[in-house]
Amino acid sequence: MKKTEAEMLKENLFYSPKHANYVCDEKEIAKADRFCDDYIKFLNECRTEREAAAFAIAAAEKNGYAKFNPAKKYKAGDKVYYDVHGKAVMLCTFGKRSIKEGTRILAAHIDSPRLDLKPNPLYEDEELALFKTHYYGGIKKYQWPTIPLALHGVIYKKDGSCVTVRIGDAEGDPRFVVTDLLPHLDKTDRPMSKVIKGEELNILIGSRPYGNEPGEKLVKLNIMKILNEKYGITEADFLSAELEAVPAFPATDIGFDRSLIGSYGHDDRVCAYPSLKAALDAKKPEFTTVTVLTDKEETGSDGNTGLHSSYLKQFISDLGALEGVPGRDVLRNSECLSADVNAGYDPTFGSVHDKMNAAYLNKGIVLTKYTGSGGKGGTNDANAEFVSKVRTVFDKSKTLWQTGELGKVDEGGGGTVAKYVANLGVSTVDVGVPVLSMHAPFEIVAKTDVYMAYKGFKAFLESK
Ligand code: MN
Ligand code: MN
Repeated sequence: MKKTEAEMLKENLFYSPKHANYVCDEKEIAKADRFCDDYIKFLNECRTEREAAAFAIAAAEKNGYAKFNPAKKYKAGDKVYYDVHGKAVMLCTFGKRSIKEGTRILAAHIDSPRLDLKPNPLYEDEELALFKTHYYGGIKKYQWPTIPLALHGVIYKKDGSCVTVRIGDAEGDPRFVVTDLLPHLDKTDRPMSKVIKGEELNILIGSRPYGNEPGEKLVKLNIMKILNEKYGITEADFLSAELEAVPAFPATDIGFDRSLIGSYGHDDRVCAYPSLKAALDAKKPEFTTVTVLTDKEETGSDGNTGLHSSYLKQFISDLGALEGVPGRDVLRNSECLSADVNAGYDPTFGSVHDKMNAAYLNKGIVLTKYTGSGGKGGTNDANAEFVSKVRTVFDKSKTLWQTGELGKVDEGGGGTVAKYVANLGVSTVDVGVPVLSMHAPFEIVAKTDVYMAYKGFKAFLESK
């Protein structure tokens, strides 16, 4: 059918982001699916920030990256990494241009909402053994009971030695669970935020007493004995541990057409993995690239592994010092994509979005000009000049992208690491993958969007 003049004019004059299927050929869709097969493996291997950081360092070393040495001279194409206390990582490839012309920074986070064990977590009540938790990040607490959980983390023992814990994911492993009240007895009318209270997020871990002589706290004793045999720990060692309860179900294809991925931790590994891949694949970049996989975003980026601290600024200063350039001069010429997810439009809950400014699954990565809330409070609002540059990079590399705001004005809000990088003087904008059920134990993304993140991030790192 021949298009009418008005239809052709509309095509030229109107903004209308398209589904990847109408833009990409079959070969590219197949490429996206293959990319996501590897992403799914990454999701299953890396359930915590420590595991993702270790994965990134191993991948970097395999690809010729060496530990950064500020006393060494580097040339274009050299690759280094910086390990931030085992929970964040920076990968750097030296560019052809002088460092004083700035860097290209990609920043994604590798921590995700979860239940952390309290420092003194283990107790017994009526011959059931449980762990007390303190939730990490913004969760809807009612989503966490009655799902299988795994435990990941580290325990430092009295002698200073460390034991790594990872139990609940492997075939044959036991799982753990937060219980919930049966509907028959749940007649209280609690508001959503209190359907499950923080102090009710207790994890069931056992029910058999030690030995066959009745006595006090024998279920707890039996658990402690098992833990002592398995990990060599005593109860006091919990005080110097970081143990995270995360969903135990693996990442999986969703839908008859297998176009989506369901998993724990898409926020923000769905940007961290494409960022890592882009860093490894961006060969001989024009500008020096710095890819940051950070921790603590979900709790506000504070602490020495979060981006509100000085580790990025100091690393950039170290890079500048190699050429005798002050860090501030490097920073003010640098550009950053803050790679983080945004809410995808969910037809079941469509009313929370301004449909004209929402992001849609399969329509590419979301460029989020600003986040924040209450009249753009607490946000980096990227300037038009930089948005224009990024737009050109995406269009030239045929990266499918769209715009998106986090919900309606005065009805939503959120933040990313963008403002912390921007506050250093770096031109920064948020770009990431749209997600459904964000912060739930099982989040949804579209495969084509994950691939577009990789494509766009790589084009940005290689941009001139
Ligand atoms: Mn995030
Ligand atoms: Mn988040």
